[in-house]
Amino acid sequence: MNDLHDKFTEYLTQQDQRYTTQRREIVDAIINKKDHFEIDEFISEVHLQGKRLARATVYRTVKQLLDAKLIQKIDAGNGRIYYEYNEALQHHDHIICNQCGKILEIKNNHIEKAIKLECNKLGFQAEYRSLHIYGTCKECQNN
Ligand SMILES: [Zn+2]
Ligand SMILES: [Zn+2]
Repeated sequence: MNDLHDKFTEYLTQQDQRYTTQRREIVDAIINKKDHFEIDEFISEVHLQGKRLARATVYRTVKQLLDAKLIQKIDAGNGRIYYEYNEALQHHDHIICNQCGKILEIKNNHIEKAIKLECNKLGFQAEYRSLHIYGTCKECQNN
């Protein structure tokens, strides 16, 4: 049993909602995704695998996962919104190209330590963080 299912069950119980088979299938597909995804593209992929998931349910479930802070939302700026689940959710940041929409990741222990230190100084208990850096990628700079 994946941790995400446990945490989502907990959240839904608090909301007085049941973890339906359909929701569970959506969460499974998100766990298998292991990458940034757009909802529409995600729905098409799931349909290709022969699963019929109601579009509205996918949108609602993603919103709930986001409310529960179990997935991350990445606004690529150009009107494109990506979502992402990974087990080390807090431990990376995003670099987003304004030209081509490419998303790169920064994983850096020094950033981790610096953020923890700053939070500790303020006596702040961090639950979630989101750091996005917008700009132009190497390839787009050369075009
Ligand atoms: Zn680019
Ligand atoms: Zn990411």
